[in-house]
Amino acid sequence: MVAQVIDGKAFAAKVRAQVADQVAKLKEQSGITPGLAVVLVGEDPASQVYVRSKGKQTVEVGMNSYEHKLEVDTSQADLLALIDQLNADPAVHGILVQLPLPKHLNEDLVINAIDPAKDVDGFHISNVGLLGTGQKSMVPCTPLGCLMMLRDHHGSLSGMDAVVIGRSNIVGKPMAQLLLGDSCTVTIAHSRTKDLPDVVRRADIVVAAVGRAEMVPGAWIKPGATVIDVGINRIDAPEKGTNEDGSVKTRLVGDVDYASAAQTAGAITPVPGGVGPMTIACLLANTLTACCRANKLPEPKGLTA
Ligand code: NAD
Repeated sequence: MVAQVIDGKAFAAKVRAQVADQVAKLKEQSGITPGLAVVLVGEDPASQVYVRSKGKQTVEVGMNSYEHKLEVDTSQADLLALIDQLNADPAVHGILVQLPLPKHLNEDLVINAIDPAKDVDGFHISNVGLLGTGQKSMVPCTPLGCLMMLRDHHGSLSGMDAVVIGRSNIVGKPMAQLLLGDSCTVTIAHSRTKDLPDVVRRADIVVAAVGRAEMVPGAWIKPGATVIDVGINRIDAPEKGTNEDGSVKTRLVGDVDYASAAQTAGAITPVPGGVGPMTIACLLANTLTACCRANKLPEPKGLTA
Protein backbone atom coordinates (compact mmCIF):
# COMPACT_ATOMS: atom_id res chain seq x y z
CA MET A 1 0.00 0.00 0.00
CA VAL A 2 1.24 3.49 -0.78
CA ALA A 3 -0.23 6.07 1.55
CA GLN A 4 -2.37 8.98 0.48
CA VAL A 5 -0.47 12.20 1.14
CA ILE A 6 -2.36 14.63 3.37
CA ASP A 7 -1.36 17.95 1.85
CA GLY A 8 -1.16 20.39 4.77
CA LYS A 9 -0.05 23.25 2.54
CA ALA A 10 -3.17 22.99 0.38
CA PHE A 11 -5.41 22.43 3.41
CA ALA A 12 -3.94 25.46 5.20
CA ALA A 13 -4.57 27.59 2.10
CA LYS A 14 -8.21 26.44 2.22
CA VAL A 15 -8.50 27.35 5.92
CA ARG A 16 -6.93 30.78 5.29
CA ALA A 17 -9.37 31.38 2.41
CA GLN A 18 -12.28 30.46 4.71
CA VAL A 19 -10.97 32.84 7.38
CA ALA A 20 -10.49 35.63 4.81
CA ASP A 21 -14.02 35.13 3.53
CA GLN A 22 -15.51 35.32 7.02
CA VAL A 23 -13.36 38.33 7.96
CA ALA A 24 -14.65 40.16 4.86
CA LYS A 25 -18.26 39.36 5.84
CA LEU A 26 -17.64 40.45 9.43
CA LYS A 27 -16.22 43.79 8.28
CA GLU A 28 -19.10 44.34 5.88
CA GLN A 29 -21.87 43.34 8.27
CA SER A 30 -20.62 44.77 11.55
CA GLY A 31 -17.65 47.01 10.73
CA ILE A 32 -15.41 44.93 13.01
CA THR A 33 -11.87 43.96 11.96
CA PRO A 34 -10.26 41.15 13.98
CA GLY A 35 -6.86 42.12 15.39
CA LEU A 36 -3.93 39.95 16.44
CA ALA A 37 -1.11 41.27 18.62
CA VAL A 38 2.17 39.35 18.54
CA VAL A 39 4.80 40.06 21.17
CA LEU A 40 8.42 39.15 20.51
CA VAL A 41 11.06 39.60 23.19
CA GLY A 42 14.64 39.52 21.93
CA GLU A 43 16.08 38.60 18.55
CA ASP A 44 16.00 34.82 18.32
CA PRO A 45 16.33 34.26 14.54
CA ALA A 46 13.75 31.42 14.34
CA SER A 47 11.25 33.43 16.42
CA GLN A 48 11.77 36.46 14.16
CA VAL A 49 10.93 34.34 11.10
CA TYR A 50 7.77 32.96 12.76
CA VAL A 51 6.62 36.42 13.87
CA ARG A 52 7.17 37.89 10.39
CA SER A 53 5.25 35.04 8.84
CA LYS A 54 2.38 35.39 11.33
CA GLY A 55 2.14 39.15 10.71
CA LYS A 56 2.16 38.71 6.93
CA GLN A 57 -0.55 36.02 6.94
CA THR A 58 -2.69 38.01 9.41
CA VAL A 59 -2.75 40.98 7.03
CA GLU A 60 -3.36 38.71 4.01
CA VAL A 61 -6.64 37.42 5.49
CA GLY A 62 -7.79 41.01 6.12
CA MET A 63 -7.10 41.23 9.86
CA ASN A 64 -5.11 43.88 11.70
CA SER A 65 -1.65 42.83 12.85
CA TYR A 66 0.03 44.55 15.78
CA GLU A 67 3.67 43.61 16.31
CA HIS A 68 5.41 44.48 19.58
CA LYS A 69 9.16 43.90 19.47
CA LEU A 70 10.82 44.27 22.85
CA GLU A 71 14.50 44.33 23.81
CA VAL A 72 16.03 41.06 25.01
CA ASP A 73 16.53 42.54 28.52
CA THR A 74 12.91 43.70 28.91
CA SER A 75 11.82 43.29 32.51
CA GLN A 76 8.99 41.03 33.60
CA ALA A 77 7.11 44.12 34.88
CA ASP A 78 7.35 45.87 31.50
CA LEU A 79 6.21 42.78 29.61
CA LEU A 80 3.27 42.30 32.00
CA ALA A 81 2.37 45.98 31.59
CA LEU A 82 2.23 45.53 27.81
CA ILE A 83 0.01 42.46 28.21
CA ASP A 84 -2.34 44.43 30.49
CA GLN A 85 -2.52 47.14 27.84
CA LEU A 86 -3.32 44.59 25.10
CA ASN A 87 -5.89 42.86 27.34
CA ALA A 88 -7.70 46.20 27.69
CA ASP A 89 -7.49 47.16 24.01
CA PRO A 90 -10.83 46.43 22.24
CA ALA A 91 -9.11 46.41 18.81
CA VAL A 92 -6.99 43.43 19.92
CA HIS A 93 -8.89 40.12 19.87
CA GLY A 94 -5.91 37.78 20.01
CA ILE A 95 -2.61 38.02 21.89
CA LEU A 96 0.34 35.76 21.22
CA VAL A 97 3.61 35.92 23.11
CA GLN A 98 6.26 34.23 20.98
CA LEU A 99 8.02 31.46 22.91
CA PRO A 100 10.61 30.73 24.09
CA LEU A 101 11.10 33.85 26.20
CA PRO A 102 14.57 34.88 27.42
CA LYS A 103 15.58 32.95 30.54
CA HIS A 104 15.01 35.81 33.04
CA LEU A 105 11.27 35.90 32.21
CA ASN A 106 8.73 33.52 33.75
CA GLU A 107 6.80 32.00 30.84
CA ASP A 108 3.98 30.57 32.94
CA LEU A 109 3.38 33.90 34.66
CA VAL A 110 3.43 35.79 31.36
CA ILE A 111 1.08 33.37 29.55
CA ASN A 112 -1.34 33.34 32.47
CA ALA A 113 -1.43 37.15 32.45
CA ILE A 114 -3.12 37.08 29.02
CA ASP A 115 -6.91 37.44 29.08
CA PRO A 116 -8.01 33.79 28.41
CA ALA A 117 -10.55 35.06 25.86
CA LYS A 118 -7.65 36.57 23.86
CA ASP A 119 -5.26 33.65 24.40
CA VAL A 120 -5.18 32.48 20.77
CA ASP A 121 -2.33 30.04 21.52
CA GLY A 122 -4.59 28.24 24.01
CA PHE A 123 -1.80 27.97 26.61
CA HIS A 124 -3.51 29.86 29.47
CA ILE A 125 -4.30 27.61 32.41
CA SER A 126 -8.03 28.44 32.06
CA ASN A 127 -8.07 27.28 28.45
CA VAL A 128 -6.14 24.13 29.38
CA GLY A 129 -8.78 23.41 32.05
CA LEU A 130 -11.69 24.18 29.74
CA LEU A 131 -10.29 21.88 27.04
CA GLY A 132 -9.66 19.15 29.62
CA THR A 133 -13.26 19.32 30.81
CA GLY A 134 -14.72 19.41 27.29
CA GLN A 135 -15.85 23.04 27.49
CA LYS A 136 -15.56 25.80 24.92
CA SER A 137 -11.97 27.08 24.98
CA MET A 138 -9.20 28.49 22.84
CA VAL A 139 -7.42 25.42 21.45
CA PRO A 140 -3.63 25.29 20.82
CA CYS A 141 -3.00 25.86 17.12
CA THR A 142 -0.82 22.87 16.18
CA PRO A 143 -3.12 20.18 17.68
CA LEU A 144 -6.16 22.01 16.26
CA GLY A 145 -4.55 21.84 12.80
CA CYS A 146 -3.92 18.09 13.24
CA LEU A 147 -7.53 17.55 14.33
CA MET A 148 -8.87 19.47 11.32
CA MET A 149 -6.81 17.34 8.95
CA LEU A 150 -7.95 14.11 10.65
CA ARG A 151 -11.60 15.13 10.54
CA ASP A 152 -11.27 16.14 6.91
CA HIS A 153 -9.72 12.79 6.03
CA HIS A 154 -11.92 10.48 8.10
CA GLY A 155 -15.14 12.35 8.76
CA SER A 156 -15.89 10.82 12.17
CA LEU A 157 -13.00 9.69 14.40
CA SER A 158 -15.36 7.98 16.85
CA GLY A 159 -14.08 4.68 18.25
CA MET A 160 -10.69 4.85 16.52
CA ASP A 161 -7.53 3.86 18.42
CA ALA A 162 -5.20 6.86 18.55
CA VAL A 163 -1.65 7.05 19.84
CA VAL A 164 -0.03 10.40 20.53
CA ILE A 165 3.74 10.14 20.92
CA GLY A 166 4.91 13.02 23.12
CA ARG A 167 3.32 14.59 26.19
CA SER A 168 4.24 18.26 25.90
CA ASN A 169 1.81 20.94 27.03
CA ILE A 170 1.75 22.58 23.61
CA VAL A 171 1.26 19.52 21.38
CA GLY A 172 0.99 16.06 22.95
CA LYS A 173 -1.42 16.68 25.85
CA PRO A 174 -3.89 18.98 24.03
CA MET A 175 -3.80 16.65 21.01
CA ALA A 176 -4.80 13.74 23.24
CA GLN A 177 -7.65 15.82 24.75
CA LEU A 178 -8.94 16.74 21.31
CA LEU A 179 -8.88 13.14 20.11
CA LEU A 180 -10.68 12.10 23.28
CA GLY A 181 -13.23 14.84 22.60
CA ASP A 182 -13.83 13.23 19.21
CA SER A 183 -14.37 9.86 20.95
CA CYS A 184 -11.10 8.14 20.05
CA THR A 185 -9.55 5.63 22.44
CA VAL A 186 -6.37 7.52 23.25
CA THR A 187 -2.94 6.40 24.40
CA ILE A 188 -0.26 8.95 25.22
CA ALA A 189 3.22 7.53 24.71
CA HIS A 190 6.40 9.26 25.89
CA SER A 191 10.08 8.75 26.60
CA ARG A 192 9.38 6.21 29.38
CA THR A 193 6.81 4.17 27.45
CA LYS A 194 7.63 0.45 27.41
CA ASP A 195 7.60 -1.19 23.99
CA LEU A 196 6.71 1.87 21.93
CA PRO A 197 6.66 -0.15 18.65
CA ASP A 198 3.91 -2.37 20.05
CA VAL A 199 1.88 0.62 21.29
CA VAL A 200 2.15 2.34 17.90
CA ARG A 201 1.24 -0.85 16.01
CA ARG A 202 -2.21 -0.90 17.63
CA ALA A 203 -3.13 2.59 16.44
CA ASP A 204 -5.49 3.61 13.66
CA ILE A 205 -4.20 7.16 14.15
CA VAL A 206 -0.59 7.98 15.05
CA VAL A 207 0.38 11.54 15.97
CA ALA A 208 4.14 11.88 16.41
CA ALA A 209 5.28 14.95 18.39
CA VAL A 210 8.69 14.10 19.79
CA GLY A 211 11.41 16.10 18.06
CA ARG A 212 13.60 13.14 17.06
CA ALA A 213 14.42 12.81 13.39
CA GLU A 214 12.73 9.83 11.70
CA MET A 215 12.43 7.82 14.94
CA VAL A 216 9.17 6.08 13.92
CA PRO A 217 9.84 3.55 11.15
CA GLY A 218 7.23 2.13 8.80
CA ALA A 219 7.55 -1.26 10.53
CA TRP A 220 5.77 0.23 13.59
CA ILE A 221 2.77 1.45 11.60
CA LYS A 222 -0.40 -0.63 11.40
CA PRO A 223 -1.29 -1.16 7.71
CA GLY A 224 -3.77 1.52 6.64
CA ALA A 225 -3.24 3.77 9.69
CA THR A 226 -3.28 7.56 9.41
CA VAL A 227 0.02 9.18 10.40
CA ILE A 228 0.25 12.82 11.45
CA ASP A 229 3.87 13.90 11.77
CA VAL A 230 4.27 17.02 13.92
CA GLY A 231 8.06 16.80 14.26
CA ILE A 232 10.32 19.36 12.63
CA ASN A 233 13.95 18.27 12.68
CA ARG A 234 16.87 19.63 10.68
CA ILE A 235 19.40 17.03 9.56
CA ASP A 236 22.52 17.09 7.41
CA ALA A 237 21.86 16.48 3.73
CA PRO A 238 25.28 15.82 2.16
CA GLU A 239 23.50 14.80 -1.07
CA LYS A 240 22.57 18.51 -1.47
CA GLY A 241 26.25 19.55 -1.34
CA THR A 242 27.84 22.28 0.78
CA ASN A 243 27.14 25.93 1.60
CA GLU A 244 29.51 28.77 0.70
CA ASP A 245 31.18 28.47 4.12
CA GLY A 246 31.90 24.77 3.50
CA SER A 247 29.25 23.46 5.89
CA VAL A 248 27.01 20.62 4.76
CA LYS A 249 23.56 21.61 3.50
CA THR A 250 20.60 20.54 5.61
CA ARG A 251 16.98 19.48 5.13
CA LEU A 252 13.88 19.15 7.30
CA VAL A 253 12.47 15.78 8.31
CA GLY A 254 9.71 14.72 10.67
CA ASP A 255 9.63 12.30 13.59
CA VAL A 256 8.43 9.59 11.20
CA ASP A 257 10.60 7.87 8.61
CA TYR A 258 8.44 9.03 5.71
CA ALA A 259 9.82 6.68 3.04
CA SER A 260 9.07 3.49 4.96
CA ALA A 261 5.90 4.73 6.71
CA ALA A 262 4.35 5.77 3.39
CA GLN A 263 4.56 2.11 2.31
CA THR A 264 2.40 0.96 5.23
CA ALA A 265 0.17 3.86 6.26
CA GLY A 266 -3.17 4.61 4.64
CA ALA A 267 -2.50 8.34 4.81
CA ILE A 268 0.42 10.46 5.99
CA THR A 269 1.43 14.11 6.36
CA PRO A 270 4.79 15.04 4.80
CA VAL A 271 7.46 17.22 6.43
CA PRO A 272 7.68 19.94 5.31
CA GLY A 273 4.22 20.71 3.95
CA GLY A 274 2.08 18.80 6.46
CA VAL A 275 1.28 20.02 9.96
CA GLY A 276 3.58 23.08 9.78
CA PRO A 277 1.46 25.29 7.50
CA MET A 278 -1.68 24.42 9.49
CA THR A 279 -0.34 25.98 12.68
CA ILE A 280 -0.47 29.61 11.48
CA ALA A 281 -3.75 28.96 9.62
CA CYS A 282 -5.24 27.83 12.96
CA LEU A 283 -3.82 30.89 14.72
CA LEU A 284 -5.79 33.04 12.26
CA ALA A 285 -8.87 30.86 12.77
CA ASN A 286 -8.53 31.25 16.56
CA THR A 287 -8.22 35.04 16.23
CA LEU A 288 -11.42 35.14 14.19
CA THR A 289 -13.16 32.89 16.74
CA ALA A 290 -11.96 35.12 19.62
CA CYS A 291 -13.23 38.21 17.78
CA CYS A 292 -16.67 36.65 17.17
CA ARG A 293 -16.95 35.54 20.81
CA ALA A 294 -15.88 39.00 22.08
CA ASN A 295 -18.60 40.60 19.99
CA LYS A 296 -21.23 37.93 20.80
CA LEU A 297 -21.49 36.97 17.14
CA PRO A 298 -21.92 33.42 15.79
CA GLU A 299 -18.63 31.54 15.68
CA PRO A 300 -17.12 30.57 12.33
CA LYS A 301 -18.14 27.04 11.34
CA GLY A 302 -15.49 24.33 10.86
CA LEU A 303 -12.69 26.45 12.30
CA THR A 304 -12.92 25.43 15.95
CA ALA A 305 -12.72 22.15 17.86
P1 NAD B 1 8.90 18.62 23.63
O1 NAD B 1 10.38 18.45 23.60
O2 NAD B 1 8.29 19.61 24.55
O3 NAD B 1 8.23 17.21 23.93
C1 NAD B 1 8.70 16.05 23.33
C2 NAD B 1 7.98 14.86 23.92
O4 NAD B 1 8.50 13.68 23.30
C3 NAD B 1 8.16 14.69 25.40
O5 NAD B 1 6.89 14.62 25.99
C4 NAD B 1 8.90 13.35 25.58
O6 NAD B 1 8.36 12.54 26.62
C5 NAD B 1 8.65 12.67 24.26
N1 NAD B 1 9.79 11.84 23.89
C6 NAD B 1 11.11 12.17 23.92
N2 NAD B 1 11.85 11.12 23.53
C7 NAD B 1 11.00 10.11 23.27
C8 NAD B 1 11.16 8.78 22.85
N3 NAD B 1 12.37 8.27 22.60
N4 NAD B 1 10.06 8.03 22.70
C9 NAD B 1 8.84 8.53 22.92
N5 NAD B 1 8.62 9.80 23.31
C10 NAD B 1 9.69 10.57 23.49
O7 NAD B 1 8.49 18.90 22.11
P2 NAD B 1 7.18 19.60 21.46
O8 NAD B 1 7.24 21.05 21.72
O9 NAD B 1 5.95 18.83 21.80
O10 NAD B 1 7.52 19.38 19.92
C11 NAD B 1 7.65 18.09 19.36
C12 NAD B 1 8.08 18.24 17.92
O11 NAD B 1 7.06 18.93 17.21
C13 NAD B 1 9.35 19.05 17.70
O12 NAD B 1 10.05 18.52 16.59
C14 NAD B 1 8.84 20.43 17.35
O13 NAD B 1 9.75 21.16 16.54
C15 NAD B 1 7.60 20.06 16.57
N6 NAD B 1 6.56 21.10 16.57
C16 NAD B 1 6.02 21.41 15.37
C17 NAD B 1 5.02 22.36 15.29
C18 NAD B 1 4.45 22.67 13.95
O14 NAD B 1 3.88 23.72 13.76
N7 NAD B 1 4.49 21.74 13.00
C19 NAD B 1 4.58 23.01 16.43
C20 NAD B 1 5.12 22.64 17.67
C21 NAD B 1 6.12 21.67 17.72
